Amino acid sequence: MLPPEVLLAMDSVGICGSDVHYLTAGRIGDFVVTKPMIIGHEAAGVVAKVGKCVKNLAVGDRVAIEPGVPCRRCDHCKQGKYNLCADMVFCATPPYDGNLTRFYKHAADFCYKLPDHVSMEEGALLEPLSVGVHACRRAEVGLGSKVLILGAGPIGLVTLLAAQAMGAAEILITDLVQHRLDVAKELGATHTLLLDREQSAEETVKRVLCTMSEAPDKAVDCCGAESSARLAIFATRSGGVVVIVGMGAPEIKLPLINALAREVDIRGVFRYCNDYPAALALVASGKVNVKRLVTHHFDITETAKAFETSRYGHGGAIKVMIHVQPRDANNSVKF
Ligand code: NAD
Ligand code: ZN
Repeated sequence: MLPPEVLLAMDSVGICGSDVHYLTAGRIGDFVVTKPMIIGHEAAGVVAKVGKCVKNLAVGDRVAIEPGVPCRRCDHCKQGKYNLCADMVFCATPPYDGNLTRFYKHAADFCYKLPDHVSMEEGALLEPLSVGVHACRRAEVGLGSKVLILGAGPIGLVTLLAAQAMGAAEILITDLVQHRLDVAKELGATHTLLLDREQSAEETVKRVLCTMSEAPDKAVDCCGAESSARLAIFATRSGGVVVIVGMGAPEIKLPLINALAREVDIRGVFRYCNDYPAALALVASGKVNVKRLVTHHFDITETAKAFETSRYGHGGAIKVMIHVQPRDANNSVKF
């Protein structure tokens, strides 16, 4: 039996690096695009129709869409780790279509009703924010944590926002691009560090340690470069946690003995799991402001231009938002 579903009139869809990758490379790892596929998975829409047995939503509700619906029956699903479900149906991951469409159907319990004061764009941004929340939960960021974040792209920035909200006392964020670090600083990073591609992880670690008051107890890689994962391990204090979010080459060289001899835990992150409610609460309470991430807006009819902007980072693009309906048409409050 299919779970209760809703038909959504789509409103806002953010472009993610993976959408751009599918468009340009036609694959991400083992996920290969073999036939035309609709992209988009960072999205919010308005309920246009409710299926039988839908109890949590009504026509007209504005919702954020958690884009992956698991099988609900396997061990991982039963244990609550549904992001690990092998039968996950995830928007815009082949063979499944995404939701950059006028109308889109989704499981009702993977739609989160937005309070009136949360905009549709913010609803769409709950997707990347949930990755940041999950990464910080995996890192066990808490009161007083000293956090090193590597990469100040959208994922590094949402990790920064989540770490702040979870009580981190000091956050250093790195990147190779100064203007991304400027945005991180604006969002409240304690320190930013512009890295030099020519410098080794071993050399860079000294710069990190000189900048922070003491070695970080958490490091979150949000870029996927080998040098970055190495830096994360070398810089993290003994007994700390390194979380890898960035997805780069399938195999990289890591200083494993250094990590094990200092009991530095290395943990992976795969999307998010039960993190949407926290992400929504952070935005709705005003603890986190995700709006600064959006640098560009396009109408759905300008989608090709939107993808060019995101792909090449034109105009300092960070998050590019596509509007399926006129911007703010479904926002009752003026933003
Ligand atoms: P992005 O490419 O927009 O941002 C990456 C940033 O890292 C860029 O600003 C880049 O300049 C910077 N960078 C590159 N090399 C660096 C280095 N050696 N040190 C420091 N910074 C460096 O990507 P994004 O959308 O922010 O995503 C970041 C990574 O997270 C990607 O690898 C993406 O595939 C991955 N990701 C993983 C998950 C997951 O579930 N694990 C989910 C979403 C994204
Ligand atoms: Zn499952």
